Amino acid sequence: MKKLGFGTMRLPLINPEDKTSIDQNYFNQLADKFIEKGFNYFDTAYPYHDEKSEGAIKKALTERYDRKDYILADKMPTILVKSGDEYPMYFNRQLERTGAEYFDYYLMHNMGKDRYAKTTEFGGFEFAEEMKKEGKIRKLGFSFHDDAETLDRILTEHPDVDFVQLQINYFDWNNKIIQSRLCYETVVRHCKPIIVMEPVKGGTLANLPKEAADLLREFNPDASPASYALRFAASLDNVFMVLSGMNTMEQVLDNTSVFDNLTPLNEEEKEILEKVIKIIEKSVEIPCTSCGYCMEVCPKNIPIPQLFGLYNNYKINNNFSNMYHNRIIYNRGKSSDCLNCHRCEKNCPQHIAIPDNLKKIAAFEK
Ligand code: SF4
Ligand code: SF4
Repeated sequence: MKKLGFGTMRLPLINPEDKTSIDQNYFNQLADKFIEKGFNYFDTAYPYHDEKSEGAIKKALTERYDRKDYILADKMPTILVKSGDEYPMYFNRQLERTGAEYFDYYLMHNMGKDRYAKTTEFGGFEFAEEMKKEGKIRKLGFSFHDDAETLDRILTEHPDVDFVQLQINYFDWNNKIIQSRLCYETVVRHCKPIIVMEPVKGGTLANLPKEAADLLREFNPDASPASYALRFAASLDNVFMVLSGMNTMEQVLDNTSVFDNLTPLNEEEKEILEKVIKIIEKSVEIPCTSCGYCMEVCPKNIPIPQLFGLYNNYKINNNFSNMYHNRIIYNRGKSSDCLNCHRCEKNCPQHIAIPDNLKKIAAFEK
């Protein structure tokens, strides 16, 4: 199995304002090219494209290819599940929407402290194990967005999972809040294979500030900025799959060519990426270092550094991800909940005007 997977969270659209308006013909062409190049892993999830991604998979793959010609990953929408009785309903709906008959890889979606507690209470892993015994799931795992301690607990309590899906990219690798490296090391310690999601950080590492893009182009005019991010993720031990959300033929050709001739980053390239990281950090609108001190005193439990990271990405690539935003504020305070009490500012070593900046983000809340 080649290491690149086709993520279907950002498929081509007919109307850029309408996430459900998937350009099916073009997606079919992208999927065909991907398969023609020798790749076969596709990743979808219940909520992607306002619940239309799974149907697009059916039209592109199930109705046009033999089932053994592609590998399909799907995810239980744990955020929607209100009781254990609902698991069969969502699972059967996913089988029906994709037409896939079984899932090669199946994930409990977006595990973190709160979501994991609910999934445990409702018997989510036990349900998925049952589906595995019935042959409807081949490999069972979970995707994860929280700290390394929580990840260690889940893996200790579920030593039988087959794999873990993590958010890993060179920019977040040493970020104290996202804990990309620590989470990676935790999974390696538990000897589990890893699927990487968001290797280009939602497009941020593909659309770099000009100074950083020039630096990479000067070093190698033929390599795209995204190729460095993909190679970083793919060359880590235990990583067997790297997902990339592709919506143009250019991206499919570029990404597949990176994985056709996969070479780990050399020392010189790693040094250049260190410079790229510094340029991105310097060009950000809000100079937050993700130290987390503000959150220690916020009475509304607002995930301030994550929200600032999201806003900084938006300023770099002009794309505000509402899905990311909703994930960040799940069970937490949102920007508009800010009381303007300024306690956080007194704790901020960067002297950031936190409530004022939160107001900018509140304007994007839906
Ligand atoms: S000003 Fe807003 S963000 Fe800062 S501590 Fe008060 S409620 Fe939290
Ligand atoms: S205290 Fe300041 S620098 Fe640290 S995470 Fe909060 S906003 Fe960012």
